[in-house]
Amino acid sequence: MNIRVGQGFDSHRFVEGRKLILGGVEIPYEKGLLGHSDADALTHAVIDAILGAMAEGDIGAHFPDTDPQYKNASSLRLLKQTLELCRDKGFEVVNIDATIICQAPKLRPHIESMRASLVNAGLPSISIKAKTNEGMGFIGRREGLAAIAVCLLQKH
Ligand code: MG
Repeated sequence: MNIRVGQGFDSHRFVEGRKLILGGVEIPYEKGLLGHSDADALTHAVIDAILGAMAEGDIGAHFPDTDPQYKNASSLRLLKQTLELCRDKGFEVVNIDATIICQAPKLRPHIESMRASLVNAGLPSISIKAKTNEGMGFIGRREGLAAIAVCLLQKH
């Protein structure tokens, strides 16, 4: 069976004066996520899941946060480059399932936009779920959010 599974995780801290971008979609909120790129934790978890399934290392190795070309970069661009690598290696994404863990803002109204944005960036199929952390820990205190993703790849 020429199939591979990979998983990805990411978290970023909320700060004032940044946009909140998830899955390439700008979500209205009083704070945004801190990071070298646009800090799109959902897209970063998806990229790491794809890289993991190929056993090609992680996002930091491919898109270093010391590289000025990725400063404030759209993570959708990084996803497109990851999908190019995938094609070059003879892999195809079958599906992705992701969960965002975020106390606030409520993400459910934005899930369809995030799915459409990621499909537009080249993913064939993505499921996105959103949960709170029931008020516990750094997520519950609204200090940041986290995202996890699982990816299935098929080799041609
Ligand atoms: Mg990240």
